[in-house]
Amino acid sequence: MSVAEPLASKLLALGEMSQLTNIQTPKSKLFALFGSKLHTLFGASALAVWMYQPADRTLTLGYGHDLSEAVTGVCEKPVPVELFPETALAVEGGSIWTTEDISDSPLFDVPKTKELFGSMGARAVMVVPLRALTRVLGAVSFYYREPKDFTADEKAFALAFCNALALSLNNVEAYERLMASERIKSEVIDVVAHQFRTPIATLRGNIELLKDESVGGDPKMRAQIIEELGKVGSKLRKFVENFLNVKAIDEGRLEPHRENTNPDDLVASVVRDLEGYRTQHRVHVALQKLPGPVVINVDQQLVGEALTNVIGNAIKYAKQQVDVRLRIEGSDVVIAVQDDGVGIPDIEQPMIFQKLFRASNVIRHPEASSGLGLYIAKQYVERNGGRIWFTSEEGKGSTFFIAFALSTP
Ligand code: ADP
Repeated sequence: MSVAEPLASKLLALGEMSQLTNIQTPKSKLFALFGSKLHTLFGASALAVWMYQPADRTLTLGYGHDLSEAVTGVCEKPVPVELFPETALAVEGGSIWTTEDISDSPLFDVPKTKELFGSMGARAVMVVPLRALTRVLGAVSFYYREPKDFTADEKAFALAFCNALALSLNNVEAYERLMASERIKSEVIDVVAHQFRTPIATLRGNIELLKDESVGGDPKMRAQIIEELGKVGSKLRKFVENFLNVKAIDEGRLEPHRENTNPDDLVASVVRDLEGYRTQHRVHVALQKLPGPVVINVDQQLVGEALTNVIGNAIKYAKQQVDVRLRIEGSDVVIAVQDDGVGIPDIEQPMIFQKLFRASNVIRHPEASSGLGLYIAKQYVERNGGRIWFTSEEGKGSTFFIAFALSTP
C-alpha cells in the first residue's frame, strides 16, 4: 500500500468499489475494476486475480496487471495450483499468505515456479483468498520487486477489499445460476410443448380412426392402428423417463450398483434390443466383438442405457451403416460406435453433452428429441468410472467412444 495514502481515502475507495458494481456486472469487469484499483492502492509491481477450481485443483487467471508474458502465456489455460505454491496455500488454507523474500523461502524452490517469478522480477508476494462465506472462490496475488515486510494494517486492508470482491463475485455467480435455471425452465417448456404436440396429434388421429367403423371395424387396419398407438405411447414414456433420469442425476440420487460384466455381452444385448428400431430405420448394424472374454465393473442397467442412447443416435442419424466395435487399448476396453450420418458441425461440438442441446443440422430432424440422451449417457458412463468422447465431421458421420477400465474377474 502506498504509505502516503491516507486512511480516509482508502476507506472511500473501498466504498466506491462496492457502489460501482451490481449483480449484473460481468465477472471480467468486476475483476478489472477491483484488480486495477488494488494494484494502485497497494503499490504492487504486478497483480493477479485468480479463480480456483477445487475439483481439479487448477487456477484460472481472471485478471492480470503488469504480469510478465511468461506468466500470461502459461496461464492461457487453467494451470495446476502447485505452479503458484503461495496461491495454493492461500486458496486451500483459506487465509492470507505473505512471503517477504521469495529467495529465502524453500516454497519457491521449484524450477518452473522460480522461472515464472523470475520473469516478473518478483521478490515479495502477498496472496489474499477470495472468501465468500465458507467457499474460497480464488485469490488476489500482489507481487513486489523488492523484499517487503507486510504490515498488519496492509493485510487487514487487503482482506477487506478482497472480501468485498468475493462477495460481489458470489452475488454475480448466484445471479448467473438463477438466470441459467430460468433459461433451462423455458427451454424445457419449449421442448416439452414441441415434443408432445406431434405424438398427441397422432394419438388423437388414430383414436378417431378407430372410432370410424369403416376403418376401425377392419381387423387388419385396427391391428395396425393399435401398433402405431403403442409406438407413440413408448415414445412418450421414454421422453418422460429421460426427464426423470436427469432429475435423479441432478439431485445426486444416482447410485450405481456395479458388478463384473462382460462388455461384449452387454453391447450385444443393447444391439439386440434396438433391432426393431434398426429395421424401422433401414440401417445395417455390424458388431465386432473382442477376441476373448474380459470383465468390466459397471452397473449394467445404467451403462446399458448409455449405450442404448449412443447406438440409438447412430441408428437415428446414420445414412445406412453403423459399426459397433470393441477393442482393448492398454488397460481399457473401448467401445466405438461409428455411423455414416449427418455428423455434428465443428462449432457445436463442445456443446454436445449439454442438457437439452440439439445441433442446428438436426433440429428439424423428425426424430431429434429432447437433447437429453447424451447428457444422460455421459453422466451414467462417468458415474461408472468410464469416459465418453467423439469425433465427427458434418455430412460424413460421427464416432462415439466409451471406455472402461478392465477389471479382474
Ligand atoms: P437427441 O434426442 O436430440 O438426439 P441427444 O442428447 O441424444 O439428443 O443428442 C444431442 C444432439 O447431439 C443431437 O440432437 C444431435 O445434434 C447430436 N448427435 C448425437 N448423436 C449424433 C450422431 N450419431 N450423429 C449426429 N449428431 C448426433
